[in-house]
Amino acid sequence: MAASVRPLVAGNWKMNGLAAAMGEFNGIKAGADKLADKAELMVCPPATLLAQFNWAAKGSKLTLGGQDCHAKVSGAHTGDIAAEMLKDAGASAVIVGHSERRTDHRETDAEVKGKAAAAHRAGLTAIVCVGEQKSQREAGETLAVVGGQLDGSLPDTATAATLVVAYEPVWAIGTGLTPTPADVAEVHAFIRKKLDERYGAEGNGMRILYGGSVKPSNAKELLGLPHVNGALVGGASLKATDFLAIAEVYAGA
Ligand code: PEP
Repeated sequence: MAASVRPLVAGNWKMNGLAAAMGEFNGIKAGADKLADKAELMVCPPATLLAQFNWAAKGSKLTLGGQDCHAKVSGAHTGDIAAEMLKDAGASAVIVGHSERRTDHRETDAEVKGKAAAAHRAGLTAIVCVGEQKSQREAGETLAVVGGQLDGSLPDTATAATLVVAYEPVWAIGTGLTPTPADVAEVHAFIRKKLDERYGAEGNGMRILYGGSVKPSNAKELLGLPHVNGALVGGASLKATDFLAIAEVYAGA
């Protein structure tokens, strides 16, 4: 992959965080600035905190992302948020197709693709999540499932700067379980090949994150694997010390 790729460590706060979380956010911001030469750090807070965090992050290298967006620019879609609104509130990226959205809201690959295309329309980087269920891994279907999700969820408009793929085995999210390093490496090499085939040189520069129970104790091993260009971190991103301990894997890089 392209030598100039800058790793990304993104924190997905999910439905956690009130205004009182500003202290943790400020801690992450300070760490992000120290690590900025080595890696990009991003926080994806609930949409209610985006604008506030954007003000607090002025002048810092810490970037912000949304957790989901609607495919359309505007309209009668109560409770939904357009990619343009996230951009307006200070986001530079948005997570789409997280397994919790695919499960809780029955989002299909086609819908995820529409959301990723909307992110690009708005000038945001799309962080597209893919990953197998436990039963699919046990049945030896992991690569077929991930390949199908990539084919169905990635928009044609993607470039190295505007598309990040997050491989998140569903059974590893929030469970404390992780695949073996060999299993992670196998899936990441497969994703890299798919991106190369579809997008050529642009695909070769796209970042592929691992997500699923990343914590300070396993970050070095997981993030050191070939074609792992960073992490999407859930639970451990809520505490500045844990999140920064993960990102500090890149401090000596
Ligand atoms: C996630 O939901 O994107 C995630 C990786 O969660 P956790 O780190 O808590 O497993």
